[in-house]
Amino acid sequence: MVLLSGPNMGGNVWKYVKDCLDTGWVSSVGAYVDQFEKMTAEFAGTKYAVATSSGTTALHIALLLAGVNENDYVITPNITFIATCNSICYTGAHPILIDTDPLNWQMDLNLLEDFLQNETEQRDGACHLKKDGNRIPVIMPVHVLGNMCDMDELLRLAKAHNLMVIEDSTEALGSYYKGKHAGSFGKMGTFSYNGNKIITTGGGGMIVTDDEALAKKAKHLTTQAKSDPFEYIHDEIGYNYRLVNVAAAMGVAQMEQLPDFIKRKKEIIAFYQSGLNGVGDIAFQQVCADVNPNWWMPTISTVKQREVLKALNDKKLQSRPFWVPMNQLKMFTEELYIQKNDCSDHVYRHCLSIPCSTYITDEEMQNVVDTIRSVF
Ligand SMILES: *Cc1c(COP(=O)(O)O)cnc(C)c1O
Repeated sequence: MVLLSGPNMGGNVWKYVKDCLDTGWVSSVGAYVDQFEKMTAEFAGTKYAVATSSGTTALHIALLLAGVNENDYVITPNITFIATCNSICYTGAHPILIDTDPLNWQMDLNLLEDFLQNETEQRDGACHLKKDGNRIPVIMPVHVLGNMCDMDELLRLAKAHNLMVIEDSTEALGSYYKGKHAGSFGKMGTFSYNGNKIITTGGGGMIVTDDEALAKKAKHLTTQAKSDPFEYIHDEIGYNYRLVNVAAAMGVAQMEQLPDFIKRKKEIIAFYQSGLNGVGDIAFQQVCADVNPNWWMPTISTVKQREVLKALNDKKLQSRPFWVPMNQLKMFTEELYIQKNDCSDHVYRHCLSIPCSTYITDEEMQNVVDTIRSVF
């Protein structure tokens, strides 16, 4: 089986993990956690980074720190992985789902602007939904597949309407907009180290921010809110959301290799783009000139989506359809969905992701290209 996006366990992974096992520093504290946080902050260009047990828990904590409460709303794209909306729901808030741009597959900023202008109002320096008067404290853009929307425009809209920006940048480690790293635009950003992401710790996440108080609170909340170094005094309901040292050891070794992984992802997309150029109606995700994406997961769009998926998977070339749009999942059918042409459904029915592990061989990629070509 050629995996869609498998973990690459080269470099010093074995060495650092063995170090944890040999010394017994495997659990909730250890030097690798600090080192992984420091390397991530440096790479992302933020002052602070706080490691978490997953990307989902990073998002949950970021929303709690933003003061998101029951019956608030959080604006987010309708095309995303479920974790974005789950984290919103953990706080008791509801998502407001914005349809996708048909070409770059990010939140449609024109729809967002219309919605903010016509359906929200300012009260006490905060954004509220006119219909029921509930607060909208946060907008959570998702950098879908490591691509980004026009961030200047998104930040302008957020500022004009008093929305705090929390970036779901879990797919965008190594992506830049005008030379600035994903996750460093909002009040907080997040990363994920799930097995299929560009680097992995088996499972893990990170919150990045320039705000010292928020970073401290994030560490506090993710470590059971213990307020005394010796006694078991806890000053609020906290969470056990920390990243264990043995996972952070993998993270440090993966960070050392990240520049090579990004370089390889770019070679992979270039291979596919040249191999599939002009084949049927195949199109790739559109990337605007200001964005330098990590090309984490090459994804194509075609009317023959189902045939291509079948042909590839029959040959054990693991390929996946895009996420089912959030508004089509039974938990979210009642949520506000802002759309004109339901582009999410179109994208869902046409897009598929193709094999792109950093260690994939040219021969395997050629096999993918030939198999797709054969469908046309
Ligand atoms: C991977 C991912 C997450 C978080 O995933 P975890 O598996 O919890 O680390 C969140 N949002 C998006 C868009 C993702 O792709």
